[in-house]
Amino acid sequence: MPKYIFVTGGVVSSVGKGIVVSSVGRVLQARGYRVTAIKIDPYLNVDSGTMNPYAHGEVFVTDDGGETDLDIGWYERFLNTTLSRNNNITTGQVYLEVITKERRGDYLGKCVQIVPHITDEIKRRIRLAAEKDNIDVAIVEIGGTAGDIEGQPFLEAARQMRLEEGFENTLFIHVALVPILKATEEFKTKALQHSVNELRRIGIQPDAIVARCEKPIDKATRSKIALFGTLPENAVFCSYDVEYVYEVPLILEEQGMGVFITSRLNLGWKQPKLKEWNEIVSSMKNAKEEVRIAVCGKYTKLIDSYVSVKEALIHAAAYARVRALIDWVDVEGFEADPERVSLLNRYDGVLVPGGFGHRGVEGKINTIRYSRENGIPFLGICFGMQLSVVEYARNVCGLDGANSTEISEDTPHPVVDLLPEQRSLENLGGTMRLGASKVIIKPGTLAYRLYNSEVTYQRHRHRYEVNPAYWDRINRAGIVFSGMSEDGRRVEIIELPSHPYFIATQYHAEFISRPGKPEPAYLGFIRAALMRKRSLETHNKSGYVSLPLG
Ligand code: GLN
Repeated sequence: MPKYIFVTGGVVSSVGKGIVVSSVGRVLQARGYRVTAIKIDPYLNVDSGTMNPYAHGEVFVTDDGGETDLDIGWYERFLNTTLSRNNNITTGQVYLEVITKERRGDYLGKCVQIVPHITDEIKRRIRLAAEKDNIDVAIVEIGGTAGDIEGQPFLEAARQMRLEEGFENTLFIHVALVPILKATEEFKTKALQHSVNELRRIGIQPDAIVARCEKPIDKATRSKIALFGTLPENAVFCSYDVEYVYEVPLILEEQGMGVFITSRLNLGWKQPKLKEWNEIVSSMKNAKEEVRIAVCGKYTKLIDSYVSVKEALIHAAAYARVRALIDWVDVEGFEADPERVSLLNRYDGVLVPGGFGHRGVEGKINTIRYSRENGIPFLGICFGMQLSVVEYARNVCGLDGANSTEISEDTPHPVVDLLPEQRSLENLGGTMRLGASKVIIKPGTLAYRLYNSEVTYQRHRHRYEVNPAYWDRINRAGIVFSGMSEDGRRVEIIELPSHPYFIATQYHAEFISRPGKPEPAYLGFIRAALMRKRSLETHNKSGYVSLPLG
């Protein structure tokens, strides 16, 4: 039977609760325990697939095709594990299930209520996700903050689980912001205290508090939080700002988090093994040489929209012993003023990530053309791959007006078109080509050299694909399809042998990247960027001067 750690939030959201959950998991995993993590999102969407990444951050795709919250990505990266769609529970899923049952007559004669019907369904889902693979500890992150209307049924379910599972098998950790007042340099804990009271009001007394703060809290602040939280001081921790989030397990371990949790949950004492993790963090922090990467997209004001891309670049760079300086470039600027695209010359690599819809498309196409024509290492992901095909069709194959039918339904050359099985769909939620599938790699190609294998399993999220009617013309003009789906009906990887590094994938390689285990297409990209940088430095070409980024 797994033990449960519930993690709640206070004061404000988006303070890195997901990182604390992942780090607590890592600290326990370092002691040999089998850990899983579950994210609860109290919104009414059934999944995050129908939400704008600009507002909510990236949609993370699981192997089994779940469109989940980006915290699932953090859990996978920190725990080096593969989670399922069941690890992300939303209010939408819970109500959909209960109302469907009610309509079917499953509750015949009863008045269907939040308690017990909704809370029972929540508990059922938590246990479903936790009780597999002999999990020792399941960490359940309750999204939002204590006091949110939407979060209440979930907190109530967690409260009930303490009764049902027992004190020794459940633990509550509350993560709350502690701001520092600029004028006096004081740590202010009042808001944290109020959020603890908010939890107590519904019957939850936290067992530990993590103060999320810019700097490590001082002793007096720790004592104050302990006093008002009714906790011993060794149950108060601080998650302070660090350069790389992967440091958080180390700083929590240093403060005694591992010892605290294992003794409180009666798991017994075990020596933590964090050497490898330590080395990964050091390789990130100690890298001196820099490569400059431009990620050219349209959600660039919220970096969370591309969090997996960013982390995949960080993992690859650390592995190659360099530091990736990432600039988030808004492609719309390349539409208003196409000359601006030559600014990309100061980068060592250009990445066009996934995306949807019309806005910014021509800017992305200009970006791809410039990188292709100027030999700048290029990596295209999903939409970035589809638009690479559009760009090549227009500018090399001579197919004027070529486009994806997602952008222009009556293009004369629909080089990217709807997947056949998408044509008759009516619902938009959860109906893309989703999840992991096998990609067959052609020997003798760049892709083959990168993956060193004829097979890779990769995750997808798309409705459109390279149109088979144009394959032949595109190949004759020089693009190699170096990866195909197992049935040979879908293009998965394209590359340009005449270019130093031009590769684009229909799949989202970033979802399977891990610290210490970079994804090959990303690693190749960083290495190619490093080669460009070194050769430009040697030849001291103009256009490569140390300009400030941004
Ligand atoms: N919009 C494109 C499609 O639906 C690409 C999707 C993506 O980049 N994730 O096929």
